[in-house]
Amino acid sequence: MSFFDTEAWRERMDERWFDTGVAMAEAGAVDLVAIEDDKVTAHVTGSVGDLYVVQLWAPAGEGTCTCPGFEKFGACKHQAAVVSAANAADLGKVKDRMARLRDGLALDSREALVERLAELARLQPAVLAALEGRA
Ligand SMILES: [Zn+2]
Repeated sequence: MSFFDTEAWRERMDERWFDTGVAMAEAGAVDLVAIEDDKVTAHVTGSVGDLYVVQLWAPAGEGTCTCPGFEKFGACKHQAAVVSAANAADLGKVKDRMARLRDGLALDSREALVERLAELARLQPAVLAALEGRA
């Protein structure tokens, strides 16, 4: 059985959006970042190179995306891309990804972690905003 209910997600949006999302997944636009219980988090590269963060609850629960289309319509092709990519993926590997990241971070000293976060904040506006409590 698939992780996501493809038909339920397809019904939430224009069929052309869904098919475009499936094509995006097949073209490698989806980076599956984490699976925690029923929630999948993915980074999806949009058609002009923008990166969007998609969170979906399986099999057919809530879904969010950071793109303007989701804000306007409440559904988007990036969600379809994640449904398609997750159903085709080895989810065990995705499940381990955040655990491996945490294990790697746990090896760093406190000072090294502070330096890494400060460097990320210097180069990544969203990280700076989050660490300053603005987002
Ligand atoms: Zn989107």
